[in-house]
Amino acid sequence: PPALEVRGLVRHFPGPGRSTVRAVDGVSLTVGRGEVVGLVGESGSGKSTVGQCVVRLDEPTGGTVRIGGVDVTRLSRRRLRPLRKDFHLVYQDPSASLDPRMSVARIVAEPLVLHRLARGDALRSRVAELLEQVGLRPELAERRPHELSGGQRQRVSIARALAVDPLLLVADEPTSALDVSVQASVLNLLADLQRDRGFGCLFITHDLAAVEFLADRIAVMYLGEIVEQAPAAELFTAPKHPYTQALLSAVPVPDPAVQRARGGSPAEGRGRIVLHGDLPSPVFPRTSTGQAVGYCRFHTRCPLAVERCRTEAPEHRTLPGGRQVACHLVEDDGTAPDAARPRPR
Ligand code: SF4
Ligand code: MG
Repeated sequence: PPALEVRGLVRHFPGPGRSTVRAVDGVSLTVGRGEVVGLVGESGSGKSTVGQCVVRLDEPTGGTVRIGGVDVTRLSRRRLRPLRKDFHLVYQDPSASLDPRMSVARIVAEPLVLHRLARGDALRSRVAELLEQVGLRPELAERRPHELSGGQRQRVSIARALAVDPLLLVADEPTSALDVSVQASVLNLLADLQRDRGFGCLFITHDLAAVEFLADRIAVMYLGEIVEQAPAAELFTAPKHPYTQALLSAVPVPDPAVQRARGGSPAEGRGRIVLHGDLPSPVFPRTSTGQAVGYCRFHTRCPLAVERCRTEAPEHRTLPGGRQVACHLVEDDGTAPDAARPRPR
């Protein structure tokens, strides 16, 4: 079984009045063993909520989450505990997850002790090995989290997460709280560890450059749902969904030399697509429970929207090659419109 299998995940909250906040509204995705899947979207798209539901920090209101084939969605806390070693979350702000009273060595040792995986000398040498693997000098072992830099703290939380050899690492914006100069080194570390250790990774971010660097596959979220899913290279070279096209058009085109080094032709310079308006609120009228909304969620901002987009929700279709997309205007053979060139309406 894959490291992670999410099917029809729903997380609704009661909203103001008789409304429903559809934070996550029918998300399905799979992370293979040893695969990195990037989950991207603007803030408020529901991507963090997906991560929280996966690690059971939040309770979904529908759907299932399987980790290594085990349905963890409705397991009691007690039955979940022994499985906890299979999945870990690395947060944006590691200071919130690191106990300020504990030394670095104890923080990293704790999961090994909890799951009875090592003790005594074996424990000490395992902790030393983990610190080395994440690039922390041995003398930092006795420091407390507040005595470390942000980058070092994030390395500690990565060491802690990997101490128990998880099947799945959920990384929610692991670098966005760090200085730009440190971000690349933490991303490189994650990439190296992932290659060596082979854990599956759900990498949640709004940083498209980071996701292009790290992910094998990318799922794009908009307002509680995944609108497009494809292998990273395909998504970056030929985005099909108008929202993905708009997102990618805002990414600076790499330097022509970089582009050639990657085997591509020098950048053509994609036309930038400017979306008007903010991400609409995920608050929907009526306390509805599961049924799809009756329109495309992107229609208020989509440069290509037609009448049908306002009256019918696009189906989530799988195109030849396994790519998934939810847009009325993408043909079954994968022919897609270009949001940079809307036809006059
Ligand atoms: Fe745009 Fe319509 Fe496609 Fe939605 S279904 S993305 S509104 S063209
Ligand atoms: Mg978030």
